[in-house]
Amino acid sequence: IEQTAYQNDSLAMLGKLAASIAHEIRNPLTAIRGFIQLLHPHLHQLGKAEYAKIILAEIDRANDIIHEFLTSSKPSVPQVGMIPVSALLKEVVLLTESEALMKGCQIYLHPLQSDMVISGDVKQMKQVVLNMIRNAMEAISEKVDDLPGKIEVGARREGAEVRIDISDNGKGMDICTLDRLFSPFFTTKESGTGLGLSVSDRIIKNHGGCISVSSKVDEGTRFVISLPLIQ
Ligand code: ADP
Ligand code: MG
Repeated sequence: IEQTAYQNDSLAMLGKLAASIAHEIRNPLTAIRGFIQLLHPHLHQLGKAEYAKIILAEIDRANDIIHEFLTSSKPSVPQVGMIPVSALLKEVVLLTESEALMKGCQIYLHPLQSDMVISGDVKQMKQVVLNMIRNAMEAISEKVDDLPGKIEVGARREGAEVRIDISDNGKGMDICTLDRLFSPFFTTKESGTGLGLSVSDRIIKNHGGCISVSSKVDEGTRFVISLPLIQ
């Protein structure tokens, strides 16, 4: 109970913090966006138009994330819709594949049944899976060995629920980390925010689901997201 009270408190604080810094971050992002658009024809001449596209897309994503944190503490009305699980996972894997390859890890998407459907906010759901894949990539790059990094993503039906699992052969977690990983602002990374999992946990709970995790130091980590299926 204490843990929950602490989390709610911190999340309320997070809302205030985000509101005050979001404004400061949005201004320079808007300036960067404008100048990149001005550079677009020059980049096009150089045959590098796709660089501008990537930069613009990433700026928009940064804005989305700020917006997400800004609204995560408010009881915002989620955009509820039907989400096919296989399409959701395919899209997020596609989005993260190139980043993973650059970091020297492979993302393997297991074959998925196409008929599993959940109900919820597709943007929030993508954010959760994205957070977990990012964490997996980071755990792999922080591991000190030459083993090829591997992230596996899969989903299976379990009664009236779907279990989405995301596992990695990264550095794993000790008991202390496992105990605290869902607490807002808890991070073991130099430039981490410690918000990814606390926000993800909240999103999944709001969707009537839960997240479980198992991990072993130096071996890897598995996250399982359970959600009610509507089909
Ligand atoms: P951040 O990524 O900014 O640190 P998160 O809330 O996403 O914040 O994660 C909190 C902490 O949980 C991380 O700093 C890390 O120590 C641990 N963690 C999360 N996912 C993994 C993983 N796949 N492997 C190892 N550690 C992890
Ligand atoms: Mg994270």
